[in-house]
Amino acid sequence: MNRITYTRAQNVKDALHQLSTNSNAKFIAGGTNLLDLMKVNVLKPDHLVDVNHIGFKAITAEADGGLRLGALVTNADTAYHESVIDQYPLLSEAMLSAASAQLRNMATNGGNLLQRTRCYYFYDTSTACNKREPGSGCSAINGYNRMHAILGASEHCIAVHPSDMAVALTALDATICVSGPDTEREIPITSFYRLPGDEPHIDNHLGADEIITSIKLPPSGFSKHYTYLKLRDRPSYAFALVSVAAALELDAQNNIIKARIALGGVAHKPWRMPEVETMLEGKPAVSESFLAAAEQLLAGAVGYGHNDFKIALARRAVIRALEQAVNKQKEP
Ligand SMILES: Cc1cc2nc3c(=O)[nH]c(=O)nc-3n(C[C@H](O)[C@H](O)[C@H](O)COP(=O)(O)OP(=O)(O)OC[C@H]3O[C@@H](n4cnc5c(N)ncnc54)[C@H](O)[C@@H]3O)c2cc1C
Ligand code: SF4
Repeated sequence: MNRITYTRAQNVKDALHQLSTNSNAKFIAGGTNLLDLMKVNVLKPDHLVDVNHIGFKAITAEADGGLRLGALVTNADTAYHESVIDQYPLLSEAMLSAASAQLRNMATNGGNLLQRTRCYYFYDTSTACNKREPGSGCSAINGYNRMHAILGASEHCIAVHPSDMAVALTALDATICVSGPDTEREIPITSFYRLPGDEPHIDNHLGADEIITSIKLPPSGFSKHYTYLKLRDRPSYAFALVSVAAALELDAQNNIIKARIALGGVAHKPWRMPEVETMLEGKPAVSESFLAAAEQLLAGAVGYGHNDFKIALARRAVIRALEQAVNKQKEP
């Protein structure tokens, strides 16, 4: 039995103060990932700071036409919010593809972005895992690696980031707003996550003394031509083997004005290559253009045995997602 203490923070300042004055403390929001990790002894905090009462539970319009999502809004309330459905249906679709209704009712936006990888070895403390225990080795590289990365991996870790929300937010160019003891800062989501390199125990660029307060979405939501295609072992309650957030802006002749493509389930972070999106600009929105984009996106892909199938799967998923985005009709 691990002894833990628990307190509720009243505001951001209080939350940050409680984090800094308790050794080995963690924030808890919905608890849907943190408690799972504590149950299997992967995380052993000795103090939990409940952040559910610090505010940041609203979704508000921004002066520039964008939207701000509070970090403590649940995934369900976000996905079903009228403005999210109207302006960012890609995000709503991605969030509703995640987990189960019960989990989405508990899970918060901040917690979703910070959930840890689902690599089986990370959860199994009897195995070597550099992410859980730096320097111990990686059991997945020569092990059962069906769900693992094909892009951006390192010899130290081939885990993937599991969040669907993060993939859609990456395609939409969202910004993560964080508070620290002395400052507030905004981190573009494209710079928030990191590749494993030789420090796979670090998932992102959030400081250990910082808290996520909100997520800012820019005005352009690609609400006419979008799709979130999630391929997984069963149609619900499963993480993506490969997912694609695709968004297009088209002219009257169906030529591409702007394209956004982010892939999930393939790397330690949502995978986006702006040069591929630029290559699509001015091209007709047809399968040949999408095939060229898919080839370029997957050009550097490497399999580790059990996950080799993901390379072809991802290539086909990119093409299909872009085709679906062209023809997408927003649901009434
Ligand atoms: C069976 C199952 C299936 C799932 N399937 C999917 C899926 O298909 N797709 C998907 O995307 N997700 C899936 N999830 C993950 C689920 O969405 C996450 O567990 C959830 O979003 C985490 O949010 P939370 O509020 O519960 O976070 P918590 O568990 O409370 O916290 C997670 C981490 O974030 C930290 N934290 C929380 N809030 C903040 C904050 N504001 N600032 C700084 N740190 C913070 C905590 O300290 C902790 O380290 C699944 C989960 C389960 C259990
Ligand atoms: S892939 Fe990463 S998380 Fe999985 S065992 Fe290897 S080091 Fe650990």
